[in-house]
Amino acid sequence: MSLSLKWFIERITTKFEFKIARSAESYYDVVILELSDGEHLSYGEAAPSRRYENGSDAILELLHTRKDQILTLPIDDAESRQDAIEKLFPESYSLQAAVDTAFWDLQGQRAGKPLWQLFGANEKMVTSSYTIGISDLSMIPAKIEEAAPYPILKIKLGTDYDHDIMRAIRAETDKVLRVDVNEGWKTIDDAKRGTEWLAEENVEFLEQPMPAHQLDDIAELREFSPLPIVADENSVRPEDLPGLVGAYDGINIKLMKCGGLTNARRMVELSQKHGFDIMMGCMVETAIGITAMSQLGSFARWLDLDGNVLLARDPFLGVGNESGELILLDKPGLGVSKRS
Ligand SMILES: [Mg+2]
Repeated sequence: MSLSLKWFIERITTKFEFKIARSAESYYDVVILELSDGEHLSYGEAAPSRRYENGSDAILELLHTRKDQILTLPIDDAESRQDAIEKLFPESYSLQAAVDTAFWDLQGQRAGKPLWQLFGANEKMVTSSYTIGISDLSMIPAKIEEAAPYPILKIKLGTDYDHDIMRAIRAETDKVLRVDVNEGWKTIDDAKRGTEWLAEENVEFLEQPMPAHQLDDIAELREFSPLPIVADENSVRPEDLPGLVGAYDGINIKLMKCGGLTNARRMVELSQKHGFDIMMGCMVETAIGITAMSQLGSFARWLDLDGNVLLARDPFLGVGNESGELILLDKPGLGVSKRS
């Protein structure tokens, strides 16, 4: 049976403005794919990050011009399919992820099995963190209150008032904190001072403290740092990983930058080979993207799959999140559906 493909933009709004070291947004336009073989309907999501590519309008343009090539991709051979997807859409990692996800969802549905089973993963996962974006200090008590159900918080830093942010958060909570600087510290001296004072604040690890192009500085920082250092903006694609040995303790895998589940599985294998701790993260996304990444969640030491619980309303239903515990669905493929 031949395949058909539809797509649309979904505007998703966050509960709070989502601010990090380089950007601040209150809503995101994601592109949803619906792929059908006439019997099954599968989903994919592209949540483009401006750090890596253009926005959703550019993705619509790519879909318009290259739809026919998507429909002839192989359904049952993910490896060769992914290679073809990358040649088809070199400009958009998130569209690569959307297409790969929709095909995997279809593949799982046709096999009658949840993807986590096809991937040799299991249902048990570590607790996911909940992200506290950058804001005025006056907002922090309300944000910590909003995060009350979640036992692990990920704090965004990389401002000129990082100390004040941490002090305000620690005045509200003694929870385990993880810190993501999003490349915000520009000098090795600032970064060294940062790791020192954060180590005294019950912080578990530090994510991407310095700009990705300052890899030598990051390697020096890692030697010095009492905290594990995790790559994010440095660990974009599978081929990035060998070059990060010595500079990082762990790597953050995200579908929207690596290009989908096929490449995420490649990154899991490469991390195991090179001895990196595995973190899995996300952009601000709907349940489609979060449910997709969760299929591999049991391979991760640290999870940060909160992109859909940061939303005022998730337009899709998928993996559950009960106080940071992710609950996979026992349905074929991804098992996601539209929220009515
Ligand atoms: Mg990050």
